[in-house]
Amino acid sequence: MLPFARVTIIGLGLIGSSVARAVRQHMPTVRITGYDADPEVRAIADRIQLCDDITDTPGAAVIDADFVILCVPVGAMGAAAAAFADDLPAEAVVSDVGSCKESVVEALRAALPNGIVVPAHPVAGTEKSGPEAGFASLFHHRWCIVTPPEDAPALAVERVREFWRQLGAMVETMDPAHHDRVLAITSHLPHLIAYTIVGTASDLEEVTASEVIKYSAGGFRDFTRIAASDPTMWRDVFLANKEAVLDMLQRFSEDLSALQRAIRWGKGDELFDLFTRTRAVRRSIIDQGQDDARPDFGRSHD
Ligand code: NAP
Repeated sequence: MLPFARVTIIGLGLIGSSVARAVRQHMPTVRITGYDADPEVRAIADRIQLCDDITDTPGAAVIDADFVILCVPVGAMGAAAAAFADDLPAEAVVSDVGSCKESVVEALRAALPNGIVVPAHPVAGTEKSGPEAGFASLFHHRWCIVTPPEDAPALAVERVREFWRQLGAMVETMDPAHHDRVLAITSHLPHLIAYTIVGTASDLEEVTASEVIKYSAGGFRDFTRIAASDPTMWRDVFLANKEAVLDMLQRFSEDLSALQRAIRWGKGDELFDLFTRTRAVRRSIIDQGQDDARPDFGRSHD
């Protein structure tokens, strides 16, 4: 059974357009309405027929929705929700796809004090942005973490869980603060490290830019994929999940110093033990179907 019949997507970038395509594919009878603050994005969405309707205002987009899903950067969630608050039907369920949850739960509840709010985070994405970057299978066999506030109606939570299951995702429920700590280590810190390495390499004076590019297959290029991620989205993530990221960064800096010492004092056993443990982590990710075992991560060589 379909959890919702009229879905409105606010923000038609990578994730919003993927949700639209996935709804089309998996729930073809659902009516999809879209709105984006950027008129150019709305024009593209219209041209590629992403939704059944694209509206020029957020209020018109939600007026007869039974599910509204915010797919805007986390720093824009509060303003995006406030912009349609007056037109939101009382029985509509509002959710989002933001990469941090505590700040988003707070922003959505402040903007929609009487609304039924059930936030969620599909842990799936790419380094691309915009309505043409999305694809219907983005959520297949990926986790979606639903983070309902304690007083969220159980039926609304179950409908949001079912929505994601029908888009092909595996669904988990989590407390928003715990979500933010888990994602700080699995996603936010890796992005910060990638941004640092690529930034440092581009600032090095004794190694030329052309050498960095030419010899990138040695490992650097795998960081550049992550470091190419959307600047607005990631600025917002670090500002919104400040505490958890700073905690994990502190822990990481201590481990990095220990590694520095092991290298300085020639402690090969320490290095070997760590690298053996980390190899096992990679194995588990592949065994659980969360990455490709091929050494090139299954890149297309066409
Ligand atoms: P994106 O491709 O940049 O799309 C976001 C769209 O939202 C843009 O077109 C943006 O327009 C629009 N927008 C901004 N403020 C708005 C507002 N107030 N009202 C309506 N539209 C507005 O970003 P994305 O990668 O899809 O990310 C969207 C959300 O998904 C973020 O919260 C992110 O944390 C989350 N997420 C991303 C990934 C990923 O890998 N990318 C994965 C999981 C979750 P402008 O460009 O004009 O601002």
